[in-house]
Amino acid sequence: MTEESLAHVDGQEKKIFTARCHCESIVFTFFIPTPDTPLSAYLCHCSICRSSTGTLAICHAVLPAGERPVFIGSSGVHNLTEYVPIGRSGRYDFRFCSTCGAHVASTEIATGDWIVSTSIVTDEDARHIRFTEQFFTKSAQDGGISSLIKIIGNTELETWNPEEESTQASITEDAESQAADPEALRLQCHCGGVNAKIMRPSNVELSIGTSNSSTRKWPATLDIGRDSRLVNGCHITGWVRLPLTACVPAIGRDLKIGTAKAYQLSDTAVHSFCGICGATLMSLDSSDGDDITLLATGTLKATEGAMAREWLCWSPEIKGYLDTADFDPDFGEAVKTGMEQWASQDS
Ligand SMILES: [Zn+2]
Ligand SMILES: [Zn+2]
Ligand SMILES: [Zn+2]
Repeated sequence: MTEESLAHVDGQEKKIFTARCHCESIVFTFFIPTPDTPLSAYLCHCSICRSSTGTLAICHAVLPAGERPVFIGSSGVHNLTEYVPIGRSGRYDFRFCSTCGAHVASTEIATGDWIVSTSIVTDEDARHIRFTEQFFTKSAQDGGISSLIKIIGNTELETWNPEEESTQASITEDAESQAADPEALRLQCHCGGVNAKIMRPSNVELSIGTSNSSTRKWPATLDIGRDSRLVNGCHITGWVRLPLTACVPAIGRDLKIGTAKAYQLSDTAVHSFCGICGATLMSLDSSDGDDITLLATGTLKATEGAMAREWLCWSPEIKGYLDTADFDPDFGEAVKTGMEQWASQDS
């Protein structure tokens, strides 16, 4: 640890962590006593976390009781949107950047204690965080990405699920799981403000060659790249590549549907997220060709589970793998090797 990243508070040495979202409307530091580093983090695969971020799992670390983020410059809670998900007994809210949509934290409403997203810390600080556990893997039904991430670095992740009969077990499942319609798949964020369907490839124009015509599945890719991580506030996002015409009702190139908000990710790319619950929805890069969008898989309601294998054909290649060299190489390696094995069983 460098001297600049350490603080001495009340006679105690603490490591300073810095976090910022993609648009940098949110920039803050938090302090962890050095004996408690590396800071333990966990992945949560529950349906609430997935459908209110649009990703495959959230990455969280609990701050010590009473420890609050210190916002920098013009950043502050006024730049965050709060969402209290029904089904979490109202104990916690989710907070996301109102401008870019990045998931930033969850807070315990009664105590005000913070659980921060570890995906938005700086590259340097990510080295002082270690994943140790994963929660609610059964909520993903097919295990989601817990099926491919079991060991990160030298740490075997401990898995926790509620007892089958507990109320927590039921509230985290998708209560509104769709009756299986082989030709249409529901897309819905947690608050329900964005609600649409995607159709099978054979029901739309195939001339653009975006689908796997033999299996009638859409191509999907895991993304652990920097842009995706900072704009979604999660280490890993699944994207389906399809034409906008595959969505019902039709979605325009501004990606506006229901409660969606847009954010200009780059000169050529637009990103959209739900303005109420924060779920990442879509991304459209005009350099990718006309009307082809990437759709975040965390909002899909496939009855077979989070990986939607009856609908998606997953690439063994990981997008953004090289970006993890500076951020979290152990995580990058775990996803890469895990996906190679998983995808080979899938084909
Ligand atoms: Zn932001
Ligand atoms: Zn969760
Ligand atoms: Zn929503």
